[in-house]
Amino acid sequence: MRLLAKNVPIAVAYFEAVGLTCRYANPRYARMFGLDESSVLGCHFREIVGEEGAEQVQPYAETLLREGVPVRYEREVTNARGQPVWIEVQMVPHTEEGVIRGAFVLVTDITRHRNAEAAVRESEERLAKFMHASQEGIVFHQDGVITDVNPPALALLGYTAEEMLGRMTLEFVPPEARAQVMAVLVAAPEIRYDSIALHKDGSRVPVEYIVRSMQFKGERQRMIIVRDIRARVEAEARIQHIAHHDALTGLLNRTAFADTAAQRLARARTQGQSVALMFLDLDHFKRINDSLGHPVGDLLLKTVAERIAGALREGDLVSRFGGDEFVVLLAPRAGQPAVAEVATRLMAAVGAPVQVQGATISVTPSIGVALFPQDGDSVEELVKHADLAMYQSKDQGRARLRFFQARLAEAARADLVLEAELAHAVREQQFLLHYQPQLGRDGRTIGLEALVRWVHPERGLVGPNHFIPLAEARRLILPIGEMVLRQALRAAVQWRSAGLLTAPVAVNLSSQQFRAPGFVDGIARALKAAGAHGAMLELELTERMLMDDIEAVRERLVQLKALGVTIAVDDFGTGYTSLGHLRHLPIDRLKVDRSFVKDLPGDERSAALMRAIVQMAQALGLEVVAEGVETIEQRDWVVAQGCEGWQGYFGARPMPAAVLEAWLRERLPQHPSGPGFNKS
Ligand code: C2E
Ligand code: CA
Ligand code: CA
Repeated sequence: MRLLAKNVPIAVAYFEAVGLTCRYANPRYARMFGLDESSVLGCHFREIVGEEGAEQVQPYAETLLREGVPVRYEREVTNARGQPVWIEVQMVPHTEEGVIRGAFVLVTDITRHRNAEAAVRESEERLAKFMHASQEGIVFHQDGVITDVNPPALALLGYTAEEMLGRMTLEFVPPEARAQVMAVLVAAPEIRYDSIALHKDGSRVPVEYIVRSMQFKGERQRMIIVRDIRARVEAEARIQHIAHHDALTGLLNRTAFADTAAQRLARARTQGQSVALMFLDLDHFKRINDSLGHPVGDLLLKTVAERIAGALREGDLVSRFGGDEFVVLLAPRAGQPAVAEVATRLMAAVGAPVQVQGATISVTPSIGVALFPQDGDSVEELVKHADLAMYQSKDQGRARLRFFQARLAEAARADLVLEAELAHAVREQQFLLHYQPQLGRDGRTIGLEALVRWVHPERGLVGPNHFIPLAEARRLILPIGEMVLRQALRAAVQWRSAGLLTAPVAVNLSSQQFRAPGFVDGIARALKAAGAHGAMLELELTERMLMDDIEAVRERLVQLKALGVTIAVDDFGTGYTSLGHLRHLPIDRLKVDRSFVKDLPGDERSAALMRAIVQMAQALGLEVVAEGVETIEQRDWVVAQGCEGWQGYFGARPMPAAVLEAWLRERLPQHPSGPGFNKS
């Protein structure tokens, strides 16, 4: 026992109940109070633990002696080396036959424990202090139940501490973010991630969660730093928005549209749905921009963008491709008629008049539609085909809707080849003129119409109907028109000086030529260059060209008249101009379209129309020339009705210059073969 008592790492002693003197102490106990094994024996406990120590111990000793139960306490002492030491003391009563004889005293050094505990307490206190001083929201929870929350977190979420404590963390996460948060809770890693918190008012607050596990208040807890990232998210969203949207209209831009549309197509593909892509282009927008200025143009585009978006459904995708082009990807709808209905609605919405800076303007859109999957498998292809269909609606007079047709795409491809060839032809001047005589009532030549031909290296002579529309669409008509004008004037001067011709040469104009700035000056220059005077030139304009902007048209015509040039309205009757409209313009001739002559003289309707036109034209002092006269009956009929002239295969076909020259020569009155009058 002695050996054991000497070697265990605890201090042991025995005190007598009577007198409280020490009857036994092991060396560790004695040393603790600066004594040894023998000097400690017989000492009163007050002598051993000192005055101050006795004060502390007294109550415990009294409890033990009074109640006969073990007691336990901790206290701080100074050890033999003068260092503070924490000890735990246990006193166990020694009872014999119900009488307390003494007490066993066991003393353990608990300094290390005490220090560790103090450290924990201190760090907990520090953490708590930090938590409440932090600008960032902090929430503690244990197994999802909130145990502590600091003021910034409360402010961020709009609650009071009472409202949050004891509730589940997930109650403060909106349903759509719960799966994500839950996954983190379960996986329990220490991570940071962006998510959303649910404010008391139901709004979503973008936050960053930083999750840490730690020991707190003696329990393993999780601390979540809830960082308000609204500013960052807003900035990011703004950048995203700028990158993905068109600045003027706020619609998706081309790239963003392509991305989103590709996703939609992928979905439609897997679900076997069909979707429609629409290409919408404003008619004559450039003219509005040029004449009313860019601010007005911008305002108009904005209005149009709003109207397009307003006429569509939630799931439809609208974008501005640039300029006056808009592309729409419709959410799946039932069939082509439904798509056509949307297009019609768009047409009406966009076409409604717009008030801009006091002026009322209205634009019509031309719309092309391509359908997925039949018209294309990718966004790119659909856009290309819808664009193509849109061009076809423009060609057909604008303000209309067209669905893409593969057959037309074929034609468009051919057009593309033709376009390249045509550009080449313009550079190489592969054009020549044929001339078709116009004859008067008495059979005299009252004019020659110059008709352009393309001398194609492989295809031979190509007629204007096959390339003029394309030349107009691709802005090649100006150089071609210029060339026609110069060639025609040169020929006119030559024939006149050869004494073959007194009548003017008529040249057809395209609307682009007529509208081009400096058009009249160009005519004047061409006349001068050829050494011709104005009376040698007649210009043929279509009704459509005269309808545009009446004042500007009138101005230009007056200037042309001042040069001595005469003006004819070509293909009259095919447009929608009233004669009344023409009354205000300085026009010399009406060329009545071939379609009115074709069925003469048998067809009543044609005859009635023809008679009416001639009568009204005469009332306005205009000459009438009938086009497309192919038979003697037609010639006789139109002459009898009072037409001043006629033109057509019956008189002569369009001829190359050399052939025409011979034709003219043959008809000279002094020519041996006799006057041409009898021949026709
Ligand atoms: P257009 O101005 O109406 O010219 C008359 C067209 O009718 C010519 O066709 C002519 O060959 C044809 N024609 C003449 N008499 C008869 C007839 O009795 N019966 C029939 N069936 N046809 C007849 P072409 O030469 O093919 O020219 C077609 C169109 O091309 C012209 O129609 C004109 O609009 C345009 N065009 C021709 N040359 C030029 C040009 O230099 N510049 C511009 N911008 N357009 C031109
Ligand atoms: Ca003509
Ligand atoms: Ca004509």
